[in-house]
Amino acid sequence: MSQIRTNKLPQMNQMWQQTLHWQPNTIQEQLFQQVYQEILAGNRQQNLTRITTPEDFWEKHLWDSLSGIIGLDNNYLTQELQVIDIGTGAGFPGIPLTIAFPNWQITLLDSTRKKIAFVNSLITKLKLNNATGVVARAEALGRIPGDRETYDLALIRAVSKASVCAEYSLPFVKVGGMAVLYRGHWNDEDTDSLKSAVAQLGGEIELLYPWETPVSKGVRNCVYLRKLSATPQKFPRAVGIPDKQPL
Ligand code: SAM
Repeated sequence: MSQIRTNKLPQMNQMWQQTLHWQPNTIQEQLFQQVYQEILAGNRQQNLTRITTPEDFWEKHLWDSLSGIIGLDNNYLTQELQVIDIGTGAGFPGIPLTIAFPNWQITLLDSTRKKIAFVNSLITKLKLNNATGVVARAEALGRIPGDRETYDLALIRAVSKASVCAEYSLPFVKVGGMAVLYRGHWNDEDTDSLKSAVAQLGGEIELLYPWETPVSKGVRNCVYLRKLSATPQKFPRAVGIPDKQPL
């Protein structure tokens, strides 16, 4: 008997509720399904992701993107926020959050033009009016008035070392706002080495939230950086320097 592949995302309402105390409504479920279809189609033109089965896509892209909200106060979830996703690639974590939080205005930033061309076509096809794709390096855009110290929330997943992610993200955040670093394995040494970088950038580590993905039990740590004071003008350093000489 031949097998039929349906490419239908699994129904995970209970899992959403148990882990994030949230679940998508019918329209959001349809949008998630459309994102999945568009990613599969886009993967034929360019390398967007190796995570392609419905179950993996649900857990490692959709759930994982939303998992960053776990350490945020409830008022973050209900307010109209300015949010930036740095190094979004094919749109993660930014696109699932755009769908989950229509009250957030989300900038999806990546230095690769082709990735942002894909993200912008997704935004148009799915009519996601609260998202915009931008091609730029974080080190360059983070110095520009209108983007520097403008965002309530900066998100960054799978881009670089934690201290590099801090240097990319904190300059974008308003004083009082938050940067969320999506990390995998984490230990006390990681915390110690991140602390001094974050202090130089005007922030502090407010919360470390260790947890695991709900199906395959992968290790995750969300690191929440609170911006306490303006980031000194010398940060972010010139393009390429943060990655070559991490703080
Ligand atoms: N965040 C996505 C995810 O988790 O699926 C994509 C991760 S991908 C491994 C890293 C992305 O960061 C790439 O698309 C790359 O172009 C982008 N990137 C790396 N350094 C960057 C920088 N300095 N400024 C903007 N984008 C950057």
